[in-house]
Amino acid sequence: MSANDLKATKKLQASFISPTPQTGPDQDHINSTEHIREHTIADEISERTFQDVSLCYQCGKCSAGCPVRYYMDIAPNKVVRLIQLGFYEDALKSDTPWLCAGCLTCSTRCPKEFDLAKFMDAVREIAIEKGVEIKQKNIIKFHKAFLDQIKSHGRAYEVGLVAEYKMKTMDLFQDVDSAPGMYFKGKLGLLPHNIKDRKGVKSIFKKTSGK
Ligand code: SF4
Ligand code: SF4
Repeated sequence: MSANDLKATKKLQASFISPTPQTGPDQDHINSTEHIREHTIADEISERTFQDVSLCYQCGKCSAGCPVRYYMDIAPNKVVRLIQLGFYEDALKSDTPWLCAGCLTCSTRCPKEFDLAKFMDAVREIAIEKGVEIKQKNIIKFHKAFLDQIKSHGRAYEVGLVAEYKMKTMDLFQDVDSAPGMYFKGKLGLLPHNIKDRKGVKSIFKKTSGK
């Protein structure tokens, strides 16, 4: 990376750093000490995931076992490294968090017990909150279609999920050739299997919507 590129990247990163702490007579005194520093995205991820981002020591074991690494633009462990080093823009704009399937392979392999799947969740949340342009738009539509099924039925309903996803993307023929095989193997139930306490699930959505 050239000196100019580095300068430009650092400038962009600044826009991802939260505002300075509140002011006030007491607060001014506290702010004047050198111990106060800005709340960074790395801090925010650590708080949301209840684990320190700096725990990861970059052994790469997570990426070596990731089943979708091949499709990602940056290896999962390198997304952690970008966050550790403050290259937030690069991390938040990466395809990797969106392609992460949340399979937990990385989390179970990590010698430091760092939950990388949870880390990816937080990166996705923050990318949306910061208004970062997500290249993988269909994946967001898939997430929404999936959550709609959970909200309605309390569990995944594959046919409803596929139908809603196709309506959202208008990509009607994507993977259509897999449907017969999945149906005959019992992977596509035509009717949903609702859970008993659907009201409970709906109330969770109500309480957490917008958070
Ligand atoms: S396995 Fe754990 S410590 Fe190693 S790179 Fe991945 S997250 Fe970091
Ligand atoms: S949870 Fe995501 S990053 Fe981790 S192994 Fe699975 S797909 Fe890869």
